[in-house]
Amino acid sequence: MIQIKGIAAAPGIRVGPAHKFGKEEFTVPRNEIREDEIPINIQLFEEALIKTRKEIMELQKRIGSDMGQEEALIFDAHLLVLEDRMLIEEVISRLKKEKLNVACIFSEVLKKYTSVFSNIEDEYLKERIVDINDVGRRILRNLLGKERKAFLELKEKVVVVAHDISPSDTAAMHKKKVLAFVTDIGGKTSHTAIMAKSLEIPAVVGIEGATAMIHPDDVLIVDGSMGVVIINPDQQTLENYRREEQKFEGVLQKFLTAKDLPAVTRDGKTVQIYANIELPDEVPSVKLHGAKGIGLYRTEFFYMNRKDLPTEEEHYQEYKYVAQEMKPDPVVIRTLDLGGDKFLSQFAIPQEMQPFLGWRAIRFCLARPEIFKVQLRAILRASVHGKLKLMYPMISGVEELRQANTILDQAKKELEDKGLSYDKDMQVGTMIEVPSAALTADILAKETDFFSIGTNDLIQYSLAVDRVNEKVAYLYEPAHPAVLRMIKNIITAGHKEKIKVAMCGEMAGEPGLVLILLGMGLDEFSIPPQVIPELKYIIRSITMKQVEEIAQKASTLSTAKEVNNYSQDKLREILK
Ligand code: PEP
Ligand code: MG
Repeated sequence: MIQIKGIAAAPGIRVGPAHKFGKEEFTVPRNEIREDEIPINIQLFEEALIKTRKEIMELQKRIGSDMGQEEALIFDAHLLVLEDRMLIEEVISRLKKEKLNVACIFSEVLKKYTSVFSNIEDEYLKERIVDINDVGRRILRNLLGKERKAFLELKEKVVVVAHDISPSDTAAMHKKKVLAFVTDIGGKTSHTAIMAKSLEIPAVVGIEGATAMIHPDDVLIVDGSMGVVIINPDQQTLENYRREEQKFEGVLQKFLTAKDLPAVTRDGKTVQIYANIELPDEVPSVKLHGAKGIGLYRTEFFYMNRKDLPTEEEHYQEYKYVAQEMKPDPVVIRTLDLGGDKFLSQFAIPQEMQPFLGWRAIRFCLARPEIFKVQLRAILRASVHGKLKLMYPMISGVEELRQANTILDQAKKELEDKGLSYDKDMQVGTMIEVPSAALTADILAKETDFFSIGTNDLIQYSLAVDRVNEKVAYLYEPAHPAVLRMIKNIITAGHKEKIKVAMCGEMAGEPGLVLILLGMGLDEFSIPPQVIPELKYIIRSITMKQVEEIAQKASTLSTAKEVNNYSQDKLREILK
């Protein structure tokens, strides 16, 4: 039994067999063959192509019914690779000439193809490498008689162990047989972690060497609440954890009693509690957990796991669905926030040294207004179906806000020219997640309808701590006095201009810190749906006077540790 500690990324306890997920390495044998063995090798190749075709079509069918036709279309490109005459003929002619086993020849041809395509400048053709590689590996696997268990093909429930998992891979785990996941790298507020929380997949990230220590089929306990992974536990430990798992469920049930009750303090102040979502599929979970609206809809996931850009109509249908489902409660749609740890294959975005400081979010949208406007028009059109609000990510100063609003005005005008309607009173807000915006909140407040504080980024930029880097994760401190002062400044500036101040970063769901945020006067909390019952439970247990005193005292403390200890003590006192 080995116990390893990492970063608690998504809560919950799960036990299951390890499944290594990563780049598959093949050892391809190289054998000379006789002249009379050529036909059988050609036959093997043809059989592998037929088997691969069958596999892809089955996969396409399954994805079509699970995730929609759009996702299934991706596999059309894979089927085309199978029909590539040039590739097939090259394999057969080299087989005849070089007289080596077909797997070896095919792997050589595949390598050649990949290297030719990698050197092409054209982005579209470059993209085809992914298809060629994907299909090529599938053919090779069939030639070698091996099997690959991707998420979609998992037969049993497993704990996925990987060096890293991208946010889009995490999205693909959705509804699949993934009990939990463990990674070598990553941080608490990486989008992989956020996604895992939303999908209720317990996760521990940032365990250096996890993939080296864990072997396939090792039994793992993953404690996503404490950030602990136990490899091959003994019977006693297993029983203890099963009890913990039940306790965890029990606590959740206790909080769930508050889910449908209003979030009102004991002295009568109503606090708005909204949910964060990444996919429209999460709407039922939002309702189930008692949110009074959606405070952050991260739309960039709609651009992921697909080959092309979503059309205006596709955007519109998504937003319309969410607006109608949540009506009359509000839905805040955050415009495209790609970059940082969220990469999209459709855009030719150069690799950057510092992606979080680079061409991301609103910067990208302002530079590509034709892409931005597609989304803006769709949001505007959907606004007649419910109570939609819009907000821009990563605004660093009022000029960017003005530029974004100019493009929004153009989008409105385009709709008017076509006679299409939209909600003329739709509120347009600004995310405050860059220190320069936090420090000029008084200026921004005059030109925006609301603020939403994105602490995940605000913390990384204020404390100079990469949010996805486990090596500096110990410095990532929401309770740092610098962060608290910045938040206080934003709230004061917003209230002076009589606009509401919300928070949609993960900090808004940290139970101890919630006391301080409430005491500072934060109006709205937007958090992962699963945390809502607990937050309501806390709010219903306090008075404003109590939390104002707590916030006042916290503002006099010198370190994050002192603030955390103090707020945790107060929370324990309040919840007894
Ligand atoms: C944030 O930065 O706090 C935020 C909510 O946006 P994201 O996590 O998507 O960057
Ligand atoms: Mg952000």
